[in-house]
Amino acid sequence: MNDKAQAKEYLVIDLEATCDNRDAVPKREMEIIEIGAVLVDGATFEPIDEFQRFVRPVRHPVLTPFCRELTSITQAQVDAAQGFVAVLDELRAFMGDRQSLFSSWGNYDRGQFGLDAEFHQVELPFGGKHLNIKQAFSDALGTRKRFGMARALQKLGLPLVGTHHRGIDDARNIARILPFAVGAWSREEVRVNAVGS
Ligand code: AMP
Ligand code: MG
Repeated sequence: MNDKAQAKEYLVIDLEATCDNRDAVPKREMEIIEIGAVLVDGATFEPIDEFQRFVRPVRHPVLTPFCRELTSITQAQVDAAQGFVAVLDELRAFMGDRQSLFSSWGNYDRGQFGLDAEFHQVELPFGGKHLNIKQAFSDALGTRKRFGMARALQKLGLPLVGTHHRGIDDARNIARILPFAVGAWSREEVRVNAVGS
């Protein structure tokens, strides 16, 4: 077990955000449009609970065709959603007093949360700690190479469940990689325990 990554509970988060394949949405103006999160027990690696909300963006409120195609999130879904501050309040309530460790694939989600919090002038509920599961996965494999989530699932022999680039589905898939990435389970154990899930 990798002590550095050990936590009582992990909060695996995957965000989707406004985007474009040209430059209609500059990187610094991207905004969260979906928060998907799976709370995972740090001893059994069972999912304990889930949180999913769409978020209504304000800087580029109309989703680009590229973004709709990438994420499969519709204009109607974000139009009907609450804004970032209200959804963040709900996430904070979901987290409660639990000392769960904010974990995500790479550093993108952490940075995106920072951008939205800065824009809306609100505090984030995560403290300073973050587990980069992408890096932990490479460490567990003993390589400096980095892999996308889909490739990591393939390497473990796990199917990609649900719709790629949907926050909640990505979070569920990343949560299944987590026990291998933190060195708690072998590839074999990850595969066997995933059967029927
Ligand atoms: P993901 O968790 O991989 O679905 O990506 C999170 C967010 O990153 C997406 O909602 C997009 O805003 C952005 N993103 C991901 N892939 C691309 C891409 N190929 N081009 C532009 N933006 C992207
Ligand atoms: Mg995603």
